[in-house]
Amino acid sequence: MYTVLAGGVGAARFLRGLTRVVSPDEVVAIVNVGDDLTRFGLRICPDLDSITYWLAGVVHPEQQWGRADESHVVAQELARFGHEPWFTLGDRDLGTHLHRTMRLHEGVPLSTVTQEITRAFGLDIRLIPATDDAVETRIITADGRDLHFQEYWVRERGAPQVASVRLAGAASAQPAPEVVEALVDADAVLIAPSNPVVSIDTILAVPGIAEALRQTPAPVVGVSPIVGGEVVRGMAHKLLPSVGAEVSAAGVADHYGDLLDGWVVDRRDVDAVEEIAATGVTCVATDTIMDDVEVAAALARRCLQLASDTAGPR
Ligand code: GDP
Ligand code: CA
Repeated sequence: MYTVLAGGVGAARFLRGLTRVVSPDEVVAIVNVGDDLTRFGLRICPDLDSITYWLAGVVHPEQQWGRADESHVVAQELARFGHEPWFTLGDRDLGTHLHRTMRLHEGVPLSTVTQEITRAFGLDIRLIPATDDAVETRIITADGRDLHFQEYWVRERGAPQVASVRLAGAASAQPAPEVVEALVDADAVLIAPSNPVVSIDTILAVPGIAEALRQTPAPVVGVSPIVGGEVVRGMAHKLLPSVGAEVSAAGVADHYGDLLDGWVVDRRDVDAVEEIAATGVTCVATDTIMDDVEVAAALARRCLQLASDTAGPR
């Protein structure tokens, strides 16, 4: 079993490669739920849905999230009532949110509903939300406001300066069923090139998950989401300073610290390999920009190779 810690799009692109290299039914992704929100009474899970849509081959190709061939009739009708359309909800996408919300109202946990959704999209990979409990990522801005992650990123377009990030509700949350087992029993644990602060840290903030990652006998290998000192997409560069991390491949490796056995950086960061290796983390450089599925597959293969090279008693 190969267990992947996953945010949204970066993780989806990586999982598309990994599931070419190993059988999808051997892959478990533990997915961030800090971004999840409720709009018009509907529960929306952007990272789970991005991964599902990518792996099912129905993602919007330019946007890289949401559905291809999408229409927005419902959003236009909502505008009639003066509803500010700051969070896009396409008609096809709404089908997923309606099913999920109905099932959650029936008392079914998110982890079970997620399995229903991935099966309906024909996926053999197992997606598990980090927790079934209510948690949400809050962004504390430099001017003292406390915003939901989506209010910061989507409504305010990532403009406010970020002072700190916290996962509200984490203290009383538990890992979803099988999350700890997926880490402890894995052959390898992979940390996808996801946002370290609002995708990976928010998974690790659920009590028990970071501990399982420290205890697992499996090698832990991550891929840098920072290439040449810049994000490939998204806002990690705005958030890394809030946790005292440098915006670089080495900075993210240092942030994950002793959780890592191996770290994969882009060829553009080959100069950082030595510095990272000096901290005791086995580091290699390869192509990591996964616009092409073959590149994603080769990257996944490199990660598994590094995992087997670093396996053994720590
Ligand atoms: P989000 O929830 O959609 O923001 O997605 P994630 O948290 O999974 O990923 C965002 C991070 O993934 C950003 O820091 C990107 O730089 C990184 N990323 C996205 N695509 C790639 C890629 O092809 N290669 C690498 N190395 N990083 C990527
Ligand atoms: Ca996300």
